[in-house]
Amino acid sequence: MLTGDAFLASLDDGREVWYEGERVELVTEHRAFRTGARVIASLYDALHDPATADALTTVDRFGHRTHRFFAPAYSADELRGGRDAIAVWQRMTYGWMGRTPDYKAAFMAQLAEGHAYYGDYGANALDWYKKCAREVLYLNHVLIDPPVDRHRLRSDVTDVFVTVTGENDNGIRVSGAKMVATGSALTHGTFVAVNSGTAARMEPGRDDHMALVFMVDMATPGLKLICRPSYEAAARHPFEAPLAARFDENDAVVVFDDAFVPWENVFVYRDVARAKGFYAESGFFNRYNLHSTTRLAIKLEFAAGLLARCAEAAGTHEFRGVQAAVGEIIAMRELLWSLTMAMVAEPEPGIGGTVVPRLQTAAAARLYATNAWSRVRELFETQLAGAPIYTVSGPADLAATELRPMIDRYYRGSGLDAQGRIKLFKLCWDALYSEFAGRHALYERNYAGNQDQQRIDTLNWATTRGDLGRFTSLVDDCLAGYDLDGWTDPLLK
Ligand SMILES: Cc1cc2nc3c(=O)[nH]c(=O)nc-3n(C[C@H](O)[C@H](O)[C@H](O)COP(=O)(O)OP(=O)(O)OC[C@H]3O[C@@H](n4cnc5c(N)ncnc54)[C@H](O)[C@@H]3O)c2cc1C
Repeated sequence: MLTGDAFLASLDDGREVWYEGERVELVTEHRAFRTGARVIASLYDALHDPATADALTTVDRFGHRTHRFFAPAYSADELRGGRDAIAVWQRMTYGWMGRTPDYKAAFMAQLAEGHAYYGDYGANALDWYKKCAREVLYLNHVLIDPPVDRHRLRSDVTDVFVTVTGENDNGIRVSGAKMVATGSALTHGTFVAVNSGTAARMEPGRDDHMALVFMVDMATPGLKLICRPSYEAAARHPFEAPLAARFDENDAVVVFDDAFVPWENVFVYRDVARAKGFYAESGFFNRYNLHSTTRLAIKLEFAAGLLARCAEAAGTHEFRGVQAAVGEIIAMRELLWSLTMAMVAEPEPGIGGTVVPRLQTAAAARLYATNAWSRVRELFETQLAGAPIYTVSGPADLAATELRPMIDRYYRGSGLDAQGRIKLFKLCWDALYSEFAGRHALYERNYAGNQDQQRIDTLNWATTRGDLGRFTSLVDDCLAGYDLDGWTDPLLK
């Protein structure tokens, strides 16, 4: 398993990352990524720290010591161990990093038993499992086409969407772009595939040139990351942007400019059926929702604590409506955590003797989770009202000797001094109202697919698994109990 230092060193590989018109020389030293890289490094160090190593790691069936969620689970207990390991890392980031390395382990762990799904490319999938588990690799993924020409057949948009442009004995060539790859500048590789919404629109024969699932090393020639603005770079001081300054996960657009992918990195090639099936059949869906629900439960712990502290500082903490808001966030946290308990305690069989969270529970958790954060924002906006905007422009104001006495007098909180109050509300600002916070709100709503698709997937799975049939039979049973002549049930006559 990589250590923090080894992780940082591994990113010095010549990858092509673009920021503000320049190619980034070394991501780990660049102002847009430097601190975020060190936060991820601290997660790697925790794998080796005696205080956290037991909770975080296990030995898989190949003999690799690895993060618990990087190994497949063969029992509810092992799945619970994975959930608890996710929680250990998430508590280190207070739930503010959605794509820590264990997120993609939701998929990679399933390759140990599920590699045969990939047919002729199955050995590649198994090799990637082993490499990923052995080193605890940090992988990002791109499943979504760029937001253009969605009204056209996907197969016709070859100027933008990822398409095969050639092949030879050593591998394939691909060109095209993929919608954002969160955290990618700091990862070891990109996993390229399609999500359920896109897959539903693909057809054999017509979409073969785009029916691909593959992995690319970040240093692959022709692979370019074009980054959005960095909130870490914009954060002038931790005191002003304590979350953005360390937890910003840059969402970069991934461009393949005639990139070469060796055969050993190919999982699905010109095979619509397999490209369509990976998302639902691999167990990735069931498992990534365990990760994201655990993460959000911890982010809600942070949110509840933050609202309580801010209310105390404003002196509103004894008001009934404010207390109700803190209580509501705590209840939301409990509900999400209970969903993780259901996911680990009552799993369903996965590939090759593994267990994965029950599909319907994962689908429900996904939909609830992607609608939870907007309610938290609403509660902060209504219950703290304008308090977070009552602030100063930055640390320099506190250092200004002429101003400081007035700041000390007029900016004090209830029960804490002015500096402490300003510090607390700047944290609140970064969590709820900054550009970093805005991006988080967008992430929470969309990371698991568009809202309609989430509902439609839930309906489809309830239909294919017979749940909807049971639900409609309840109604049919009720209808059968009466007719124009009154009750048909002899008991009620
Ligand atoms: C901060 C952030 C980080 C992200 N990180 C990643 C990442 O790391 N990896 C990754 O792969 N993706 C990532 N994404 C992308 C994310 O997965 C998508 O935004 C999400 O899946 C929704 O897809 P979309 O944006 O293309 O919207 P769409 O799916 O295009 O939805 C837009 C609207 O069109 C409607 N619509 C779409 N298709 C149809 C249809 N066929 N019929 C009728 N209505 C339709 C939808 O219901 C919705 O109302 C990220 C997004 C954000 C915001």
